[in-house]
Amino acid sequence: MRAMVVKEWGQPFTLEERPDPEPGAGEAVMKVRAAGVGLTLVTMRTGVFGGEVPRVMGHELGGDIVAVGDGVTNVKPGDRCGVYFYLNCGYCRWCHGGRETLCDNHGGYVGVHVDGGYADYVCLPAGNFLPIPSGLSYEDAAIAADAVNTNWHCMRERAQISPHDDVLLIGAGGGVGVHGIQVAKAFGARVIAADISDEKLEFARKWGADEVINVRAVNDLGEATRKLTDGKGVEAAVDYVGASESFTAAIGALATAGRAVVIGAKPGTVQINPIDLLISEKTITGSRHSTRTELMETMEVMAKGTIKSAIGKRVHFTEVETLFEDLQAETLLGRGALTYDD
Ligand SMILES: [Zn+2]
Repeated sequence: MRAMVVKEWGQPFTLEERPDPEPGAGEAVMKVRAAGVGLTLVTMRTGVFGGEVPRVMGHELGGDIVAVGDGVTNVKPGDRCGVYFYLNCGYCRWCHGGRETLCDNHGGYVGVHVDGGYADYVCLPAGNFLPIPSGLSYEDAAIAADAVNTNWHCMRERAQISPHDDVLLIGAGGGVGVHGIQVAKAFGARVIAADISDEKLEFARKWGADEVINVRAVNDLGEATRKLTDGKGVEAAVDYVGASESFTAAIGALATAGRAVVIGAKPGTVQINPIDLLISEKTITGSRHSTRTELMETMEVMAKGTIKSAIGKRVHFTEVETLFEDLQAETLLGRGALTYDD
């Protein structure tokens, strides 16, 4: 099979011919039919997530199971499947308790700690393959598995969006953010999209944002947000950037009992006034990816057409490097997608 291989972290992909994978006990092999590409991959390729090289990257995937190893009962050849991104143990308190992204025995990520799907075939623990509901394309199933399900977990569990909420999304014009707009709208929120360029904000509007704020055109994002909410502030602020400045702005934009959630993050510090938290019962928290169940729910919601994948550009998987270049240059609007041969 053909595989796009990272030989050293930080280096471009190399097209290699490799033997087709054979499933070991408890594993399954999927022929990849579609894949997604986002900014997280660019960060991962720098090596900051760890993992051994050489490595085949790629975790947003859809395809057909072609072979299963001994003991596999959850999938069979011919099944259309999406892929769950995390390698969790399945038996710790967090895995059992419905919060598996906090797994005590977290084994890393597909495409970082084991080979992913920028290749004709991918071999993974069978439990990482989840059925694609009928009516959902391979490509939508791929995009569901990071760009959308991360938002599904965030908006419902962490930001706890209700139909009467005003919600601020910082970095809403990015590949994950534009899907966040749709998920927040699906939970009934009024969405205020903040980003740094008019082009990204226009894209955010196209995907459903009710109001937009160009962060570079205002002095204080919190103040600009309050102007759009009759002085109240927002019930939830979700920060896709996760820099000290952006998360400080997220907290500053909150209404009474508001929730500030960091969903993308950079190293930094944020100052918090404990009195403000006490008086107004604000919540400051993070949101980490999604559970398998939430990915299945996300695919079902997408199959109904409530949330659509926002694809900015498609290339063949052997040309994935061009999408990485676009992401680094910040010229890609929405998610990148890869096509595969029939
Ligand atoms: Zn676990």
